[in-house]
Amino acid sequence: MNYPNLFSPLDLGHVTLPNRILMGSMHTGLEDKASDFDKLAVYFAERARGGVGLMVTGGIAPSIQGWLKPFGGRLSMPWHKARHRKLTHAVHAEGGRICMQILHAGRYGYHPLSVAPSKIKSPITPFTPRTLSSRGVERTIADFVRCATLARDAGYDGIEVMGSEGYLINQFIAERTNQRNDVWGGDAIRRMRFAIEIVRRTREAVGRDFIIIYRLSMLDLVEGGQDWSEIVTLAKAIEAAGASIINTGIGWHEARVPTIVTSVPRGGFAWVTKKLKGEIAIPLVTTNRINMPDVAERILADGQADMVSMARPLLADSQWPRKAAAGNAERINTCIACNQACLDHVFQNRRASCLVNPRACHETELKIEPATHRKRIAVVGAGPAGLACATTLAERGHSVTLIDQANEIGGQFNYAKQIPGKEEFHETLRYFRHRLIDTQVEVQLQKVADVALLQAVDYDEVVIATGVSPRTVSFPGSDDPRVLNYLDVLAKQRTVGARVAIIGAGGIGFDVAEFLVENPPSPATNVVRWTREWGVDMSLAQRSGLQLARPEAPSREVWLLQRSEGRPGARLNKTTGWVHRATLKAKHVIMFGGVRYDRFDDFGLHVTVEGKSQILPVDHVVICAGQEPRRQLADELIAAGIKVHIIGGADVAAELDAKRAISQGTRLACTL
Ligand code: FAD
Ligand code: NAP
Ligand code: SF4
Repeated sequence: MNYPNLFSPLDLGHVTLPNRILMGSMHTGLEDKASDFDKLAVYFAERARGGVGLMVTGGIAPSIQGWLKPFGGRLSMPWHKARHRKLTHAVHAEGGRICMQILHAGRYGYHPLSVAPSKIKSPITPFTPRTLSSRGVERTIADFVRCATLARDAGYDGIEVMGSEGYLINQFIAERTNQRNDVWGGDAIRRMRFAIEIVRRTREAVGRDFIIIYRLSMLDLVEGGQDWSEIVTLAKAIEAAGASIINTGIGWHEARVPTIVTSVPRGGFAWVTKKLKGEIAIPLVTTNRINMPDVAERILADGQADMVSMARPLLADSQWPRKAAAGNAERINTCIACNQACLDHVFQNRRASCLVNPRACHETELKIEPATHRKRIAVVGAGPAGLACATTLAERGHSVTLIDQANEIGGQFNYAKQIPGKEEFHETLRYFRHRLIDTQVEVQLQKVADVALLQAVDYDEVVIATGVSPRTVSFPGSDDPRVLNYLDVLAKQRTVGARVAIIGAGGIGFDVAEFLVENPPSPATNVVRWTREWGVDMSLAQRSGLQLARPEAPSREVWLLQRSEGRPGARLNKTTGWVHRATLKAKHVIMFGGVRYDRFDDFGLHVTVEGKSQILPVDHVVICAGQEPRRQLADELIAAGIKVHIIGGADVAAELDAKRAISQGTRLACTL
């Protein structure tokens, strides 16, 4: 049997789960409108078919005050049940099981009706919450209980009580946010009462044959959070109150320690859950950065938890459990923890999707159906756009030839994978290598496509995915051999001196800076080193699990520069940009906005910043000033009268990322 621990059943008393895989709660944006529940039902049904043991929906508020945002998903009235029945029917029809997460946002509510134990604004929302009165607290507990009862009536197999990540229940538990002196505040025991009463009264209302998962904050990672003995006390009380499973929560949303981004080591917080093992008898779930079966199996085999929770990995590949069980882990489309299409979308009020799987949450609209007429199609360029396009075309039944001048597939992903903390890009390339074989794409490497080559075969369609070239920047001295671009550093492995200026502070400028300052191997490969660098106390002796961060000394002195005024990195992605900025700050990278590049010579790079000239005494300059589309072939083909489809960077280089490249390639392939 493959992964025997992962695929062993879990007996919960009234029900036995087929395996140890929990699809963790993930907001998709489809929970908020009744009219989107048909799409959500198809999304969950596909994942139930994929073999996941138990699923949890995105957070649903038990009341208007508990909304995450205005008019967000809510289950508080009998007529709300009908839409939820669509989900439970769809999942049960596939033999799956599903719990609904009850999430009261408390002071994280992005609306003026938010409430909290005390009137303390969160640093990440603009609204100051109203303090709940004693009657308000009782009413809120009743809201949770009513919501759970309605969820049971709607056919759910259980609920998850969201008690972590800094939401309302967590706000009651922590001194940081609870300054009450009634029975719901004061000492630690009184602050826990709200959570315990919710579980106790819910259990009384729903009966024994209904799963109650409690998501417990085991590592707050904010000042004024819980200490470990309080967490153990709470876990025991939650078990006694009737929970069936305890799930792990790591970090509040306002914490300044990254918890799920790609630079967090895989399974990097399972040790926290392990500390609770033996303290309680009910199953414990661990979570965060578990994305491949070997990681999950190791965690279970080491006795760190009884189940593993994965949310984004099942967005990336709905068939993850089936593939793992069949010994096909190399065919899993691995979540690279980029957040670019899931969390970043949700924060922008957009429907979630997935960078490596654009069908995620779009299952009803983006359908890969057999082609009605089999065509012969050439795809030029095996970067993300070309790979997605070629494999989708071939899956639909077309005869596809994929041509690339390089000696390996992947295009720019071959540079991205070298950045410390971006090792997951290797997985996407591994996935595509297998997909090319499975879909029988003919791959021609080390072959430059030109008009003659493409005319020599009678292709029905030609797709151009030739990508981008680095933009060149001219200033006096820019032709000096010590002035490089990012490809010289990442692809040609040119030696770079101890002091370096980077021109351009976009995504690639930041990545190159991290490449230059980090001491190999990447911190993302070592949990002990990573926790030391970010100030996470693995002994859990310190309250909230926080201790002084001790970043390693940088391996180089780096200046990161941009022409535009303002803070470099301000345009990086919402949920990951702060991590990149904090990483470089810890490595003493000097960042300047509003820079003019005057010249480069033996003294270094001469720049003008805010009207003042200065010399940066650097050995090398690395240009990361964006990219230009590589369109020459497309233009020549068009001039020769050949119709082409242009995708990815070759289409538009500005604002290009792999999310657009893969989505565009897949969408085009569905139409040819
Ligand atoms: P490319 O990846 O450029 O691929 C084009 C391919 O076409 C190449 O393999 C090339 O060899 C081939 N080709 C060109 N001309 C010919 C020809 N005439 N004949 C045959 N073959 C040809 N994006 C993100 O979304 N998230 C990230 O975190 C991220 N990090 C990055 C980090 C770095 C260091 C770099 C460099 C890029 C990063 N990117 C990231 C950007 C991402 O890699 C690109 O957006 C993506 O690769 C563009 O895909 P593409 O298929 O359009 O082009
Ligand atoms: P970019 O984000 O557009 O940044 C280019 C940088 O170069 C900017 O700082 C720009 O700012 C500067 N610049 C542009 N023209 C210049 C010129 N003529 N002279 C000097 N400086 C110039 O592009 P990128 O960093 O190359 O990244 C390419 C794409 O890859 C991005 O769109 C990004 O989405 C994607 N990517 C994403 C990630 C990620 O983590 N999500 C990581 C890497 C890459 P000024 O004009 O102000 O100087
Ligand atoms: Fe994972 Fe990125 Fe997809 Fe989100 S968008 S599920 S983080 S691969």
